[in-house]
Amino acid sequence: MELISVVVPCYNEEESLPLFYDEIIRVSDGMTAEFGTEFEFVFVNDGSRDKTLEKLRELSERDKRVRYVSFSRNFGKESAMIAGLEHAEGDYVVLLDADLQHPPRLIPEMYRCVSSGEYDCAATRRISRKGEPKLLSFFANSFYGIINKISQTQIISGAQDFRFMTRQMVDAIISMSEYNRFSKGIFSWVGFKTKFIEIENTERAAGTTTWNFKKLFLYSLDGIMGFSTAPLALSLFLGIFSCVIAAVIFIVTLVQFFSLGISLGRFANIVSLILLMSGLCLICTGINGLYLSKTYMEVKCRPKYIVKETEKTERGKK
Ligand code: UDP
Ligand code: MG
Repeated sequence: MELISVVVPCYNEEESLPLFYDEIIRVSDGMTAEFGTEFEFVFVNDGSRDKTLEKLRELSERDKRVRYVSFSRNFGKESAMIAGLEHAEGDYVVLLDADLQHPPRLIPEMYRCVSSGEYDCAATRRISRKGEPKLLSFFANSFYGIINKISQTQIISGAQDFRFMTRQMVDAIISMSEYNRFSKGIFSWVGFKTKFIEIENTERAAGTTTWNFKKLFLYSLDGIMGFSTAPLALSLFLGIFSCVIAAVIFIVTLVQFFSLGISLGRFANIVSLILLMSGLCLICTGINGLYLSKTYMEVKCRPKYIVKETEKTERGKK
């Protein structure tokens, strides 16, 4: 029988958990009846300050399929997600939030897509940013615009962390051993075929979000810095630009001096010298940046490739 692991990061979710549990049981019982799949539920308590841990203890007493991992403090959603993936034992893993913003009723459809062998992953994508502050939407859209220009890893706007994945894809994600994790990038970096299911934004079932503008901004920096080294090369381009302007001013001065006999005077010379010197400094910084960017990527110890199939494995499945 196929085992599906449901991985749920939880931070201060005492109010959502009972609602989530009822819903996931309803969906999983339906799937067991329809497809004969077994389930395990892996909750990760990310250092909650409320009664989340007590609730998880109760649930695992009551239902042997409920497992939990509880952190010593709040490490953030990224750490909670990877811990859940590392502890999950299923043939398939579905990752979703505890607040019912990722509707469990979509899991059967996701299972159908992935188990048919056509896709390795099914994920949801928000089609609207309804209910979100305008300014936040503006920054979010700018973020996707920038990162998709400067990074080779394409990050789909609105793609969520709600994912149903094969064991093979989960193992690939676990093999990405970097510390500063940005899952939206990692899901895309590991490759595999993903089916996107478009959904509307839903409100939280209970409790409050812990994300604010500052946290989102820092997270977007993690995304840019984790998946692009373009900012490190920026000073190289600025330096070259500055040197080119210096050269143009210098040539114009020379031409005017020799052909027309007029001198632009000391001012032009000084400007061109300043541009030249600062340009050279920027170029040197840029070269350092390039070496640093290579070192940075090496230190991440990412796998050099991820194999999906060989002649010995039929589509990498059991
Ligand atoms: N979460 C977590 N650690 C954190 C913050 C959030 O594990 O430090 C969990 C949270 O319990 C929820 C999911 O991550 O299951 C998404 O969080 P939230 O609903 O606050 O984010 P939003 O949906 O507003 O993006
Ligand atoms: Mg939420």
